[in-house]
Amino acid sequence: MCLFCKIASREVPAKILFEDDDVLAFADIHPAAPTHVLAIPKRHLASLDDAEPGDALLLGRVLLAAQRAAREAGLAASGYRVVLNTGRDAGQSVAHLHAHALGGRAMAWPPG
Ligand code: 5GP
Ligand code: ZN
Repeated sequence: MCLFCKIASREVPAKILFEDDDVLAFADIHPAAPTHVLAIPKRHLASLDDAEPGDALLLGRVLLAAQRAAREAGLAASGYRVVLNTGRDAGQSVAHLHAHALGGRAMAWPPG
């Protein structure tokens, strides 16, 4: 089982912020912004590049979990960034699809 599957199964502890049958949102262990949440599908999917048309609803749920966590952190008015690092060049370090929701400070564009 991968690290985020272990978080989903509670084998590895995390600060859980939201969960339903299909998705989980939890605090990033090394926050890169005042709010930094990860939203994942509970079912293992290695990356966005492994998603198929049949995963469309699940992907939408992951995004809505990121939205919910950001809203609950009070970021709706100031804004927030949602990122899915996908593969080596993007710096994906955990091979279980995750959407980062970052906010609480102004951010630069383009990312490094
Ligand atoms: P990536 O680099 O793959 O886009 O993002 C992986 C994220 O997972 C990083 O921001 C990293 O801080 C976070 N992370 C890595 N290990 C753990 C962990 O054990 N618990 C939590 N909550 N976050 C983790
Ligand atoms: Zn996994």
